[in-house]
Amino acid sequence: MKILVSDDVAVEGVNLLRHNGYDVDIKVNLDEKALISCIGAYDGLITRSMTHVTEAVIEAAGKLKVIGRAGVGVDSIDIKTATQRGIIVVNAPTANTVAATEHTCAMIMAITRHIPQAHNSLMAGEWQRERFTGIQLKDKTIGIIGVGRIGSRIAKRMQAMEMRTIGYDPYIPAERGQQLGVELVDLDTLLASADYITLHTPLTKETRGMIGAAEIAKMKRGVRVINVSRGAVLDIQALAAALQSGQVAGAAIDVFPEEPLTQDINPFLHMDQVVLTPHLGASTVEAQIGVSVDVAKGVMAALQG
Ligand code: NAD
Repeated sequence: MKILVSDDVAVEGVNLLRHNGYDVDIKVNLDEKALISCIGAYDGLITRSMTHVTEAVIEAAGKLKVIGRAGVGVDSIDIKTATQRGIIVVNAPTANTVAATEHTCAMIMAITRHIPQAHNSLMAGEWQRERFTGIQLKDKTIGIIGVGRIGSRIAKRMQAMEMRTIGYDPYIPAERGQQLGVELVDLDTLLASADYITLHTPLTKETRGMIGAAEIAKMKRGVRVINVSRGAVLDIQALAAALQSGQVAGAAIDVFPEEPLTQDINPFLHMDQVVLTPHLGASTVEAQIGVSVDVAKGVMAALQG
């Protein structure tokens, strides 16, 4: 059986497939047209976040039986059309949890102590100490929106920094909040009381645009906002305006409504209180091997029925 790998995935998963007798082609950076023209030859497709498996791609995929997403978010796949066509969609939801959690922690620390800005200043030959005065995390409140795999781990790590952790997640039971030491509150309460707000929901119909101008206006003045979930959950134009007005004091963003984020669509250019990374949440050696192997196993299980 033939499998197409259309994004960069770690070689371990590819080797596992080949070892089990699958014929694997690796073709990255295909645009929709190129994908449509070759997808008909494959029984399985493995993607990361760059490939968009649209309705047109699925319609052209005559013998496709499974789409594997090496990672958690399946918002890049038209699941409805895939399901109608009887194509199984599998993901690798757990292997990059720790990586995304640790990246979020790094982003929180970076905007709190201005580390990238201070580094750049020093590399430019300056020695500026007053300009980079930070704040302390201890005794601040962090509001976690989406207390799932990643959100709950953020809570644990930020509790170690002696932060108060509150959360908004209408889909987890109150006991889970108690177990985690996270006070579950409604969204408006979280927005109004957190010093840091970090987003960890999946991208769904409900969460698309969930944090926009109206929600930012309800936040504490001087709040810091972190998004390592999915770009479209947060309105980055509204965030940029709030950074300019001082309503938001700092932001750390890893994911964007449109990726890659090019200079012409980047609303944060020249904003010194912002730290951006190019969707690096899952980019650790361990996570990439983990998602590659997990998705390969999922794809083989689906093909073996
Ligand atoms: P998860 O499914 O374990 O947790 C998501 C949580 O969000 C769940 O507890 C769910 O109940 C909650 N939720 C759903 N809808 C909600 C809503 N409307 N309001 C509040 N909470 C809601 O997922 P996870 O593994 O923790 O991943 C979280 C997010 O991180 C996903 O969007 C995923 O795609 C993203 N992610 C990003 C990277 C990256 O590279 N930046 C890496 C891994 C995961």
